Amino acid sequence: MSFFLQTCSQQTTRVYDGTMTTPDASAADSFTRSSPMTRFRLAPNPGPMSLEGTNSYVIGEGIIVDPGPDDEAHLQLLASVGVDLILITHRHPDHTAGSERLRELTGAPVRALNPEHCHGGQPLMDDEVIDVDGVQVRVLATPGHTSDSVSFHLPDDGPNGSVLTGDTILGRGTTIIDFPDGRLGAYLESLERLRALGPATVLPAHGPVLPDLTVIADAYLAHRRQRLEQVRAALVELGADASVEQVTDHVYHDVDSSVRQAAEASVGAQLDYLRSE
Ligand SMILES: [Zn+2]
Repeated sequence: MSFFLQTCSQQTTRVYDGTMTTPDASAADSFTRSSPMTRFRLAPNPGPMSLEGTNSYVIGEGIIVDPGPDDEAHLQLLASVGVDLILITHRHPDHTAGSERLRELTGAPVRALNPEHCHGGQPLMDDEVIDVDGVQVRVLATPGHTSDSVSFHLPDDGPNGSVLTGDTILGRGTTIIDFPDGRLGAYLESLERLRALGPATVLPAHGPVLPDLTVIADAYLAHRRQRLEQVRAALVELGADASVEQVTDHVYHDVDSSVRQAAEASVGAQLDYLRSE
């Protein structure tokens, strides 16, 4: 199933390889080239969970992925590229809070897996191929971080393609499982699914671009297995009925208070996984 352009006639601003063809030269400086077919703008929302901030991507000439926070200057710059379609990787506000305003500014529909985050567009479907101006974007359901997490595969982006991974794979560190909506079993399957795409360029929603999806998916899988072993070992020591708080203290004894809640969510997800095995 494909999405066809509804609003292309209104576009007057175009960017080719980072060069603006309109007088608004400042907008071109605001984007960083991330792959042959993509560039991104870092949103001004740094934090313990969002690293330097949200990377709002532009695919080709008119697709925005993750508007990011409701920050007027950021959204104005995104709008300046000439937006035909807005895609959402998942429901978290650091990805979606600017959606409705960017739709107001551009008239472009917002599409997400979760209907609550669609505005003027249809919900995304797993394995759907979206075609905008000849750019093909394949939707991959990759639940785990949240139940509605998707990744966007660009098979024609460079020699090995690229994948916009949202928060499923980050550019640095590891992601959280937003339990109970996010589930570890689903997350491990999603990592395997991404890994099968081969050495594609990884375009994460936070942190730097990474060169090889296979390498990072393997590292994430190894990290998860290691954490599961630690939680298993904690349960041997603390007893099978140990609480999330007890296990978090045991496994993440040096965790900073700013990410304590995230650590507890991850432990909750791991206990759920182990106890349902
Ligand atoms: Zn998220």
